Amino acid sequence: MRLSVLGATGSIGKSTLDLVGRHPDRFEIVALTAQTQTAELADAAVRHRAKLAVIGDEGELAALRSALSGTGIRAAAGADGLVEAASEPADCVMAAIVGAAGLRPTFAAARQGCRIALANKECLVSAGNVFTSLVAESGAELLPVDSEHSAAFQALAGADPKAIEKIVLTASGGPFRTWSHEQLRDATPAQALKHPNWSMGAKITIDSATMMNKGLELIEAYHLFPVEVDALDCVVHPQSIVHCLVSYRDGSVIAQLAPPDMRTPIAVALAWPGRMEAPTEKLDLARLGSLTFEAPDEDRFPALRVAKGALKRGATAPAVLNAANEVGVEAFLAGKLAFPGIATLVEASIEGAEKRGIIEPAACLDDILAVDAAARRLAREYLAAY
Ligand code: NAD
Ligand code: MG
Repeated sequence: MRLSVLGATGSIGKSTLDLVGRHPDRFEIVALTAQTQTAELADAAVRHRAKLAVIGDEGELAALRSALSGTGIRAAAGADGLVEAASEPADCVMAAIVGAAGLRPTFAAARQGCRIALANKECLVSAGNVFTSLVAESGAELLPVDSEHSAAFQALAGADPKAIEKIVLTASGGPFRTWSHEQLRDATPAQALKHPNWSMGAKITIDSATMMNKGLELIEAYHLFPVEVDALDCVVHPQSIVHCLVSYRDGSVIAQLAPPDMRTPIAVALAWPGRMEAPTEKLDLARLGSLTFEAPDEDRFPALRVAKGALKRGATAPAVLNAANEVGVEAFLAGKLAFPGIATLVEASIEGAEKRGIIEPAACLDDILAVDAAARRLAREYLAAY
């Protein structure tokens, strides 16, 4: 399989290349990208004999060229370079750039009509129908990498949409699951970055702490699977062993279980409909002893309610949600916004966008990017006033 990895130096990118390194006969690496980690990118490109390496930060092009000199690996940079990497003919593109920055490259990958292993959930959240329409037109094959969606995809395989009653995503609850309102007010970035079960990039780790991640995932699930908004739900499951449960009208519930290691859902997306070996810990239920579940608390974690509201509102409300959340997470990590302020900022931004007529149906990627930019401006305005 000819494979490109967008976001090759990130948590998902590295897990993907770890699997690739263990199955050298299965994969041929086409293009690898990163934003700023030039040395790491060049290293991976040499190790996996990539044809093309692209660094998002144009100022790093000279350094990338010199790191790759004599290797025969082409180097490129900037937004156009990322699109070039995504457009380079491949059988599968792993879309693992974080945030709305992944929109253009992921769209370019979809345009070539290959398999898209989608980790970049923000792309589906922001661009929703615009993205899925492109996938349908180009004949691309969209396979989720997000663990809950990979689980749903497996539990749904071959199901008649009319037979599905509910899709329930599980959430770990994050590091603050048991924290009070008072404790949440003083939560620091260092505390929020300590996820109990998963080792992930900073942005999604903060999203897990606010539970915005589960909100984004409900929107992602809505676009991936043939169900209505009300058939989507989530349940808190602190052990992160059960990733999703699909209930059918006959009372059957099919769940997917696996120890929390992203190499499992990545392997599913790369090998489907086959299976490939992944070097993960094997599930041992007797050792685990018990699996627990509880209802999410939207009072302490309002991001979940705000995201559901954006999904119900439709049009570009989820794009505003995503953009404002990215601004909020960045501000929180920079020590400029209190932890509960992230959800407050997102909610205010959606209300403000509604008043200013920013929330409208979108027809193309440029419409989405314009809404994304307007929502960021609005969120920054509110942030400055806090
Ligand atoms: P990360 O921060 O570890 O890595 C992000 C990658 O994208 C890096 O290679 C980085 O260089 C690149 N990048 C960052 N900003 C960029 C920009 N502006 N333009 C181009 N490239 C840029 O993130 P991650 O945890 O690997 O997450 C990647 C995506 O996968 C996210 O959308 C996340 O929600 C999703 N996801 C991650 C996990 C996980 O376990 N890490 C699980 C489910 C879904
Ligand atoms: Mg997930």
